[in-house]
Amino acid sequence: LFVSFEGGDGAGKSSILHEIAKDLENQGYPVVATREPGGIHIAEEIRHIILDPAHTEMDGRTEALLYAAARRQHLVEKVMPALDEGKVVLCDRFIDSSLAYQGHARGLGMDEVFKVNQFAVDTCMPDVTLLFDIKPEEGLNRIAANSGREKNRLDLEALDFHKKVYEAYQALAKENAERIKSIRADRSFAEVKTEAYEVLLPYLP
Ligand code: C5P
Repeated sequence: LFVSFEGGDGAGKSSILHEIAKDLENQGYPVVATREPGGIHIAEEIRHIILDPAHTEMDGRTEALLYAAARRQHLVEKVMPALDEGKVVLCDRFIDSSLAYQGHARGLGMDEVFKVNQFAVDTCMPDVTLLFDIKPEEGLNRIAANSGREKNRLDLEALDFHKKVYEAYQALAKENAERIKSIRADRSFAEVKTEAYEVLLPYLP
């Protein structure tokens, strides 16, 4: 089972992912919790290049290609082997992040970015995607309140950028209602986690 976790920054998806991974493991499921960009050596190196605050000169298409390259390697090296072994793969971000951030917010075009990513992922798509839905203003407030979080180049983006990310996720959820399940993330951690878990239940082997 391949599950991706999506949402704007500060939606809490990463913390929830790790909690759900622990719960599933306790129930005896073989779980692989991973993240994008990253999850394996080559992709973590690419992540470092993309997110380095010093790389202000990075071109939008270069960025999109690097994300797609990291995605490809992560899929081949980690996700696909785990799926072949019947594991539950929980992935923090996947293709929808590229469509929302690079395609819409960065203005490269969602169709264009989809094409590049189609080359990267081939036919391997998540069985279900949990979209943690939080207004960008609130997501950014949460980040500001959480000073321990790793700072990166994208944290410097203006609110307008994050509003576009939000819009794009809404559109993607509408167009892919079968796959993308929206979860109201503007509530307590326990409530959001419970809802995420309930959405996931019917998909578990
Ligand atoms: O999910 P995480 O916080 O680890 O993502 C790191 C950063 O990369 C975030 O600030 C997010 O905005 C950005 N990102 C992006 N495009 C993607 C994936 C992530 O701009 N395709």
